[in-house]
Amino acid sequence: MKTVRLKVYGIVQGVGMRPVVARHATACGVTGTVANLGPYVEIFAQGDEKKVDEFVRLIEEEPPKRAAILKIDNRTLDDAPIYGSFEIIESGKTSGEIFISPDIAVCDECLEELYDKKNRRYLHPFINCTCCGPRLTILDSLPYDRERTSMKEFPMCEKCAAEYEDPATRRYDAQPVCCNDCGPEVFILNDPENRRGRDAIVHTRKLLSEGGIVAIKGIGGFHIACNAYDEDAVRRLRELKHRPAKPFAVMMRNIESVKAQCETIPLQEEILKGHQKPIILLPRKDGSTLARSVAPGNPKLGVMLPYAPLQSLLFDYDDGIEMPDTLVMTSGNISGLPICRDDEDALREIAGFCDCILTHNRKIRIRADDSVMDFYNGKPYMVRRSRGYAPLPYMMSEDLKGSVIAYGGELKNTFCIGVNNLFYPSSYIGDLTDLRGKDVLTESVDRMETLLETKPELAVCDLHPSYNSSLAAEESGLPLERVQHHYAHILSCMAENDYHGECIGISFDGTGYGTDGTIWGGEVLKCSPSWFTRLGSIRPFLQTGGDIASKEGWRIAVSMLIDIFGSRAEEAADRLGLIRNGTFKTYKAMHDGKLNSVVSTSAGRLFDAVSAILGIKYENTFEGEASTALMFEAMRCDNHVCACDYELTGEYIETGKIVRDLVIRRLAGEDPRELAYRFHRLLGEAAAEFASANAGTVRTACLSGGCYQNTLLLDITKKALENRGFKVLIHSLIPPNDGGISIGQAFYGMNKLKDGGK
Ligand code: ZN
Ligand code: ZN
Ligand code: FE
Repeated sequence: MKTVRLKVYGIVQGVGMRPVVARHATACGVTGTVANLGPYVEIFAQGDEKKVDEFVRLIEEEPPKRAAILKIDNRTLDDAPIYGSFEIIESGKTSGEIFISPDIAVCDECLEELYDKKNRRYLHPFINCTCCGPRLTILDSLPYDRERTSMKEFPMCEKCAAEYEDPATRRYDAQPVCCNDCGPEVFILNDPENRRGRDAIVHTRKLLSEGGIVAIKGIGGFHIACNAYDEDAVRRLRELKHRPAKPFAVMMRNIESVKAQCETIPLQEEILKGHQKPIILLPRKDGSTLARSVAPGNPKLGVMLPYAPLQSLLFDYDDGIEMPDTLVMTSGNISGLPICRDDEDALREIAGFCDCILTHNRKIRIRADDSVMDFYNGKPYMVRRSRGYAPLPYMMSEDLKGSVIAYGGELKNTFCIGVNNLFYPSSYIGDLTDLRGKDVLTESVDRMETLLETKPELAVCDLHPSYNSSLAAEESGLPLERVQHHYAHILSCMAENDYHGECIGISFDGTGYGTDGTIWGGEVLKCSPSWFTRLGSIRPFLQTGGDIASKEGWRIAVSMLIDIFGSRAEEAADRLGLIRNGTFKTYKAMHDGKLNSVVSTSAGRLFDAVSAILGIKYENTFEGEASTALMFEAMRCDNHVCACDYELTGEYIETGKIVRDLVIRRLAGEDPRELAYRFHRLLGEAAAEFASANAGTVRTACLSGGCYQNTLLLDITKKALENRGFKVLIHSLIPPNDGGISIGQAFYGMNKLKDGGK
């Protein structure tokens, strides 16, 4: 006779852990108990030694499908009571490491039932089971039980309750379980005809098929949808949203539709169909028939598959309406602001864009935008980490103690809570340029602290004095650490890679506040988890025209020309067609008088300027437009010979020389596409050379910052560093852009606590 106590850590709540454990116990003939204790599942198992060992093996090798087991503590007990049977015990509560499951896309079994006329959940928009359905977005507090979710308003009918309580069913212990009789209901918001349920869905489908624009409440917020083949509908949506060119994501009926329009590799197909279902940026096939204005001028398309049953019903229903297999599915928000979560948000902010709003009465507790994933080198390279991923924690191998809250940056904001060696990056909050964004941040932080049952002892924020995220951090009343923006980018790359030593960080980014009060963004830093020094940067230039210069790259280009070519700058600017409004003279006067000007080393602005110089894009109508267009041009180039007869580094990364070279070649009539490639190549090589010359004995490098979303620059820099003997760490599931810096800040904060405790 042997008795063991197992503690199973990881995503073990809301994934059917207990019934699977009970089934394994029955199969092996062991007795004992299983209980959900919040941070872990606790199991007592008793029986013949062989049977108990077999039981433990089954738990390790055949856990529930959606569980992510991080660790199992296994202890043999000497004095244990005798168990007569195997029982599931109701949730208790302890504190410690906590794992909250992200939302899980609808599973294949549920989809089959959804379209099975004989099933009692036929066409039920909220069908779910132990393996699928909303989790984080409906959660009030832990442990994960129905009364602590927004499903508590929907008492189960007898049949659902019977499934919920029977360990033999697919819905045992599935908190959001419901059916057509007892579940939430969809309806058209503020509808004079009061369409609900079936009528509401049919109405929505009819509108979409006829070119209408509809807002649809999903799992983590609202989307705005229209027929992606209908040029007029897509263009009307662009006009209403004041979004002239930024690509829209699309949702496609199934993987076959995706393969008809886009190139895919097997791993991408697997992730598209998997349980996280992010948006993946896929190369479009030639001859794609979607409306041109879905993603104008962009060789890639952001594609996802339906992940909520209601979304599947938009494509397939029994009303005879013929639906397109692709819908535009863009976040329901005012550009940049957090996604709308409830009907009031939707009425206030997006009702004006839509012909109707399809909503429902299951409340969303926490917003979760769609995650957006690019690929580099055959592997995921995240652009936005949110639904399906947040708040899965990162576990560090170093021993860290305490709790910190990091408030992130100002654009693409996320926050991150660190508790001991676990870091929980939040889902995507959005831009905080507006106070509403800050309120959403504060509210979301409070909710996560409650869920994780932690009271941080330290807050961390950006060095920038007027970021709304910094303001939120100040309002927390906690002791505060400020971390320089580009150092935070590198810290985030270190944290993602569980790297705790010293490294050379190349942080190529938009803009951030430097320790000297100038604008930084093209930095080479020497970093450890608790300090950094600035080794150097790209050559500083003058950003003239204040905020507008960050949108209009031609202004930066003209500034650079004045510095590089002196009296010949006007002629060059003229021939390149750079002066988009005003005159060269007024611009030069502003530049010389340093009016409304700041010194900048922003790599993002350098990309904008080069894009203008090469005549690719003169300004941005959305963040990154000009630099992305520059990358696409470079990627289309097939002449990769880039001989260079000058030194690329010295006091700085000599970007002035590179720009000079590009201007001269452009004026001599060289192909802009080849020059776009040349720029990437020389910049990447120069960064690596500068890093190598200043690294001392350090031979690990981290690449981060928004410019490293550019996978061509990433590839060139990485290889150039590897050629110089560096081990190069890059991002994968944490974005290199500002959405990633909160985990870097939290990593810094936890290391501060550790150093302070010594
Ligand atoms: Zn399911
Ligand atoms: Zn029911
Ligand atoms: Fe940044």
